Amino acid sequence: MSNDNSRTTHKVVIIGSGPAGWTAAIYAARANLDPVVYEGVAKSNPGPILPGGQLMLTTEVENYPGFPDGVTGPDMMDRFRKQAERFGTTIVGQDITRVKFALMPGELHTLTTSAGKTVQTHAVIISTGATANWMGLESELRLAMAGGGVSACAVCDGALPMFRDQPVAVVGGGDTAMEEATYLTKFASTVYVIHRRDALRASKVMQERFLSKPNAKVLWNKTVSECLGENDEHGNEKLKGIVLTDTVTGESSKLAVNGLFVAIGHTPATGFLRESGLEFNDAGYIDLKGRSSATTRPGVFAAGDVADDRYRQAVTAAGMGCQAALDAEHYLGAQGVN
Ligand code: NAP
Repeated sequence: MSNDNSRTTHKVVIIGSGPAGWTAAIYAARANLDPVVYEGVAKSNPGPILPGGQLMLTTEVENYPGFPDGVTGPDMMDRFRKQAERFGTTIVGQDITRVKFALMPGELHTLTTSAGKTVQTHAVIISTGATANWMGLESELRLAMAGGGVSACAVCDGALPMFRDQPVAVVGGGDTAMEEATYLTKFASTVYVIHRRDALRASKVMQERFLSKPNAKVLWNKTVSECLGENDEHGNEKLKGIVLTDTVTGESSKLAVNGLFVAIGHTPATGFLRESGLEFNDAGYIDLKGRSSATTRPGVFAAGDVADDRYRQAVTAAGMGCQAALDAEHYLGAQGVN
């Protein structure tokens, strides 16, 4: 890993190291913009948050073009990182904890690192992503980390062989839960939606789409209080069931499932931007100007899940990272910074 001691005024700083950040770095490096990526530090909140982002918690990725045999999330992020390094990206293993963005084009932005250092830069690309919300159970996080059948993304993991023709459950009652549950009805034998109340939050149309499937079931007034794993023949722990608690009667029951998909919302990683002057949408994601990656501050661009609560895919995040690097290059050119 490189350090950032040699120079403290950069052309472009990229904050975050998921598919959006690394793609922005590859493009910026190839455009001779000497990008510096702050890849972040590992933390828990309550689920693990790792440099590399949500893909670091994904086992098999089968829907990223160019990998016909699939690739693990961590392997894919390692490849992205190496490609960015190959073209001269500087990588710093710290977070950016505070920002002071310029008000006028051409002025420098000031960033404070988790090591307490101040860095200045002409352009910034924010690609800090979002984190899936977890219920916070120890057994849930353990099985999710081990690829043991607990996941926060059905579109990413739902088609894996381990879930085919098996009973699975989705926790949550919003549009994401309905979308994920509907998707899973194509593969699983039964899809249980587990919701803590007696009415879904999701739009009627999405509810009906799920409920019209013959293998769809809703378990009302239930929360998951434990995930039950068993070791397979290779000694790897796999989900075999969950313990449910009835929110009205307090009674416990067991449900046999081989997959559990947690769909209780996402939180964009924007805490360090609170005083930044950027604008956010109602759900807290960075607002972009039209189809570009420009934010409401000149020279500040955003890419990936931190600015996208709709698609949330590795391939769309990578595409947005490319856009942000091209927008930053254009901005820097207009300021005479080459
Ligand atoms: P959401 O609307 O905030 O729904 C979260 C769901 O999870 C709620 O039903 C909530 O229960 C439940 N929940 C929250 N914390 C929980 C916990 N600790 N334990 C158990 N259940 C918990 O989030 P979302 O579904 O991800 O949707 C986010 C936004 O994206 C929404 O505006 C949605 O409309 C939009 N979206 C749109 C589409 C689409 O149109 N295609 C698809 C996906 C998402 P309560 O209901 O009891 O609060």
